This record gives sequence, structure tokens and C-alpha cells, in this order.
Amino acid sequence: MKTYDDENIFAKILRNEIPCFKIYEDNTTFCFMDIMPRSDGHCLVIPKSPCRNILDASDAQLAAVMATVKKVANAATVAFNADGITVQQFNETAGGQEVFHLHFHIHPRHKGIPMRAAGCMGDMDKIKQHAEQIAAVLN
Ligand code: AMP
Repeated sequence: MKTYDDENIFAKILRNEIPCFKIYEDNTTFCFMDIMPRSDGHCLVIPKSPCRNILDASDAQLAAVMATVKKVANAATVAFNADGITVQQFNETAGGQEVFHLHFHIHPRHKGIPMRAAGCMGDMDKIKQHAEQIAAVLN
């Protein structure tokens, strides 16, 4: 099994070495905006402790992350008056994973509106505002 590399970008975000638009954190999990949003409100939930993906995560890490996914998904539904939520999660390169620290994508969805293409940098002012919208529901 491949080992965890603590120079990955999400590990750097957790160490405050690079900035992010934070939405929520507790003792074991952290939630922040995706900077290439495929939907308005697209955010990511990660464990604070290291693991690459679900293949090496402990049951405790997965349970903690899923509890936060549920919490943020409900908040995002309210914040964006969403009709639904898509949760995405990729494992290893062949599975579509690009950043090797476990993360779950949360996408607020509206009827008839497809997700945008991956890999397009978002408008930082909008992303900041969307983070604040979700955080406001949580607080
Ligand atoms: P994946 O590993 O395929 O689930 O994709 C990684 C995700 O991380 C992509 O949606 C990227 O837009 C996102 N991403 C990459 N760098 C950053 C960053 N510095 N801050 C927030 N999101 C990021």
C-alpha cells in the first residue's frame, strides 16, 4: 500500500502553511471550500489526522469524517436552498484522486443544473462568500 505524504496540499492547509476558506472544524475533522468549485458551495471535508483515502483510513477516521459530511451537507442545503446534495470521493490515481489526503466533496445541487467541469479556478470573492453562507448556518 502507498504511504501518506505529509507534503500534500491538504496537510499544508491543516498546518496553516497555505490559506483556505474554512467553514468548520472540530477535534478530528476540518471543512473548507474547494478552490475549483464544480457547484456553488462545493466544499471538502477531511480528517485532521493523516490517511490517503478510504483504503487506509481507520474506521474512526471515516466515522468522524462522515459525521461532519452530514452536518455540512445539511447546512449547505439550507444555505443554498438546495434540492439535493452530491457527495464525491475518489481513491488513488486510477480512481480519480488528485490530492492524497482523504477528502469528501460536498456539492449543493439544484434541479436541472449540471455540475461544472473540473479543474477551473473559481472566483475567490464568491468562494469566500459561499463559505460564509454555509458557516452562518452552522453557527
Ligand atoms: P480529488 O483528489 O480528485 O478529489 O480532487 C482534489 C480537489 O482538491 C479538487 O477538486 C481541487 O479543486 C481541490 N483543490 C486542490 N487544491 C486546493 C486548495 N489549495 N484548496 C482547496 N481545494 C483544492
